[in-house]
Amino acid sequence: MAFVITPPAQAAISVHGTDELFPVNRIYCVGRNYAEHAREMGHDPDREPPFFFEKHPTSLVFAPSPKGADFKYPQQTKDVHHEIEMIAVLHKGGNDISAAKALDHVWGYGVGLDMTRRDLQGTAKKMGRPWEIGKSFDNSAPVGFIHPVREVGHPDKGAVTLKVNGEIRQTGDLDDLIWKIPEIISILSGLFTLRPGDVIFTGTPAGVGPVSKGDVMIGAVAGLSGIAVRVS
Ligand code: MN
Repeated sequence: MAFVITPPAQAAISVHGTDELFPVNRIYCVGRNYAEHAREMGHDPDREPPFFFEKHPTSLVFAPSPKGADFKYPQQTKDVHHEIEMIAVLHKGGNDISAAKALDHVWGYGVGLDMTRRDLQGTAKKMGRPWEIGKSFDNSAPVGFIHPVREVGHPDKGAVTLKVNGEIRQTGDLDDLIWKIPEIISILSGLFTLRPGDVIFTGTPAGVGPVSKGDVMIGAVAGLSGIAVRVS
């Protein structure tokens, strides 16, 4: 049977050092996963279980350092924020995956930016509405190369940083993640059937803030190739 319109393109992220692509299924994001960031958003990190939201795979922008890519200032906002994060990508899915087995499901890691229309997210929070329009919009998920586990292992410590126009805005360490990668995968798999191709944004350290047209963001996670994004 033929499709009645051209099927949507398969979203994908380039694999470092190869001409291969990692195909993307769903994109899950963890909220408030560094204590200092939870506090800067007005919450008590000690009392909250992890929570999740999603970005649509069409939100991806491939922006590897040094060349990077443009991020077009989004519609309907005057306060778009950067959130630098490590991302993990899965090659195996499942339900109710134990934390002890969870890392067997990870194919690789990379660097991502969870760009956020903070003003629209803030209004949604106040009105008890979903975060969708604050989080899952065009170009809201710039990413760098995916590094296979066979090259980088499972990073669990090391600096996470974001510079804007050369000035450090966000700093953290993977060691400070409240919910570690195995726990995130285990808990997510209790809520959703995880599938090969799923991508997880693991949370951002403190220092989130706005960017303006003309700004250049350089994001890094120790041991992984970085990301370069110009706001246009
Ligand atoms: Mn985030």
